[in-house]
Amino acid sequence: MSEVLGVRGLRRSFRQANVTIDVLRGVDLAIRAGEIVALLGPSGSGKSTLLQAVGLLEGGFEGSIMIQGREAAAFNDAERTAMRRDTLGFVYQFHHLLPDFTALENVVIPQLVKGASRAEANARAQSLLTGLGLAERLTHRPSKLSGGEQQRVAVARALANRPALVLADEPTGNLDEATADIVFDEFLRLVREEGSAALVATHNERIAARMDRVLRLHEGVLE
Ligand code: ADP
Ligand code: MG
Repeated sequence: MSEVLGVRGLRRSFRQANVTIDVLRGVDLAIRAGEIVALLGPSGSGKSTLLQAVGLLEGGFEGSIMIQGREAAAFNDAERTAMRRDTLGFVYQFHHLLPDFTALENVVIPQLVKGASRAEANARAQSLLTGLGLAERLTHRPSKLSGGEQQRVAVARALANRPALVLADEPTGNLDEATADIVFDEFLRLVREEGSAALVATHNERIAARMDRVLRLHEGVLE
């Protein structure tokens, strides 16, 4: 069994106005290569906090995070950056695309940062975006795209560097229900085709049920 993510005893507290709230109280989880897992919980249950820890975006937690068998706590800044760039892909509720670059460039740039050639990066970006129905939108800036199209570009960008693990935080939470269903289907299909694993935070039971496995975050632990 090859494990892309192993989390043990993850704890995170925040201090808000003299009160300490224990958001994560000892989270354990394991995700195997290629597995698509839902992280389900109501708003405020700690889904984003968990994804930020796993995505090496936030410190301040206790416990162990192993990504492809390597302990994240032992990384220096360069190793953390390399892990985020080469092994992880991110999709957020709001697309966070670069506003001054075209859809194509938004998918090309992370590949260039990783060291791909311009030709390779262009070919892969075109193929990903075409597969998501955006063949006619390659030279559009994000502001000229619909919400669903923007999220598709964000999905293509997240997969551009063939991440072992995609972390998605309410990836269709900003879309109307019909568009969310379509974009989510495309996201699942593409992640499966690419063979990446994914951990997808959602408060939507219906969307969670379409994944391989559902983890429920309740009172700071997974059940
Ligand atoms: P979810 O993504 O499930 O809606 P979050 O992880 O965003 O939940 O938040 C969980 C809890 O942690 C909430 O009570 C939130 O107010 C608190 N929280 C999250 N981030 C911070 C922070 N940076 N500072 C203080 N409290 C925070
Ligand atoms: Mg959240």
